[in-house]
Amino acid sequence: MKTTIETKTYSNFINNEWKESASGKVITSINPANKEAVGYVQNSTEEELNQAVEAAHNAKKAWRKLGQAARGQLLFQTANLLEARLDEIAESMTMEMGKTLPEAKGETARGIAILRYYAGEGMRKEGDVIPSTDKDALMFTKRAPLGVVGVITPWNFPVAIPIWKIAPALVYGNTVVFKPASEAAVTAAKVVECFAEAGFPEGVLNFVTGSGSVIGQGLIDHPKLNAITFTGSESVGQSVAKAAAARGIKFQLEMGGKNPVIVAKNANLDQAVEAVISGGFRSSGQKCTASSRVIVESEVYNEFKQKLIEASEKITVGNGLEKGIWMGPCASESQFNTFNKYIEIGKNEGARLVHGGEVLTGGEYDNGFFVKPAIFEEVTPDMTIAQEEIFGPVIALIRAVDLEEAIDLANNTKYGLSASIFTSDISSILEFIDEIEAGLVRINAESAGVELQAPFGGMKASSTGSREQGEAAKEFYTAIKTVFIKGS
Ligand code: NAP
Ligand code: MG
Repeated sequence: MKTTIETKTYSNFINNEWKESASGKVITSINPANKEAVGYVQNSTEEELNQAVEAAHNAKKAWRKLGQAARGQLLFQTANLLEARLDEIAESMTMEMGKTLPEAKGETARGIAILRYYAGEGMRKEGDVIPSTDKDALMFTKRAPLGVVGVITPWNFPVAIPIWKIAPALVYGNTVVFKPASEAAVTAAKVVECFAEAGFPEGVLNFVTGSGSVIGQGLIDHPKLNAITFTGSESVGQSVAKAAAARGIKFQLEMGGKNPVIVAKNANLDQAVEAVISGGFRSSGQKCTASSRVIVESEVYNEFKQKLIEASEKITVGNGLEKGIWMGPCASESQFNTFNKYIEIGKNEGARLVHGGEVLTGGEYDNGFFVKPAIFEEVTPDMTIAQEEIFGPVIALIRAVDLEEAIDLANNTKYGLSASIFTSDISSILEFIDEIEAGLVRINAESAGVELQAPFGGMKASSTGSREQGEAAKEFYTAIKTVFIKGS
């Protein structure tokens, strides 16, 4: 499959200059469909990280004083620049982490919409007037930025996640040091090019690539960092939380999920099948909101299972740049190995593989990390594949006698990101909304899928509670000043 994308080396962006790392080393970004290089990014040293944090620190005051409306205008400009490069950036994303081109285009379009949403925030209110008990006083709140915000992102949404963190951070007056996931840093660099071209003042947005252990860890430990927002694995999230708590800085974590879908006896089964396939297997199951446990009421279990297997048979797997491909490869060798590991664990613990689960071979499959999406049944709640986040195209079917048991099973996990139910019964819907332990509650809709203007985040171990996106983002990226004024 030929593309017009140039394989080049991307630099760090520090204090508005594109600079190579003094290390002289680069990280190669690999295409999981053919193991070819997609591009190279700097394998930076702590020295470059320090320069970036210093630049962000020095830019704080002037950026805050510029005002919210002017900051918003720069985000509008960034959105236009990203829009002009939508096709190219989406293609990079497909080549770098494997999701299909239509999905990559959808994500890039989402990034543009998020930029415009937060650009609009430039013209919205900065606080509230609150009545004082003193009739001669004026009391109001005013939002103040936090300062230098560190942004650490995963590889699975290399355009949307960085933008949904960077755009609110900037519009509310913070400066940013952005460290992307190494697996998708070429796409991230292209997004940063759009910000750079929009003409932000020096030091407002800085971009440093390199390993999680050097650049990520160095960022969270940096004394001039004022807040950190992180999306990624639970284990790294916990170390971010420890470092931030020890220094008393604000932190926000979005981590894993083990998202359940309940299929009730009165569900529209065709609708449920479509949503489970999409939620479980799109992006090769590598979404934090992916459907991974499907809990089905006994009465409709066999019929639902048959329909699910039939629909899964139709999935076409291949290079996501090609037309007609429904699912791309696993994002990397490590994701591919993780898939294979969990298939073995599932089998060894006694779950029954009823569809897929094997590595695809022959032709172009031999050059990439292609697998056939898997469906296990007879999965019991204590099995590893019912508890651990797999982050791959694996669905665990679990049988429940009734709705009450289904909800108990759904809640039987440390995570609480997203949860769906398929039912036409209003009482079941109301019960589910009340009882389910999830930040995203979805009725007759797939577990994956969020809207940019609504709060996003989870309960329990999935997140630290403060929500991202929409208006909710303001809670994290600002501090409140309560102002009380009397005449003199
Ligand atoms: P990850 O390994 O935790 O990496 C996330 C980011 O942290 C990357 O930029 C990584 O850099 C960096 N990092 C690694 N070690 C670090 C350290 N010691 N200190 C600071 N930063 C460090 O996660 P991933 O494999 O990229 O992403 C998959 C995970 O993200 C899944 O668990 C998924 O559920 C979660 N996720 C959650 C959401 C959500 O909103 N809840 C959304 C998407 C993904 P390198 O790439 O250089 O290692
Ligand atoms: Mg890659």
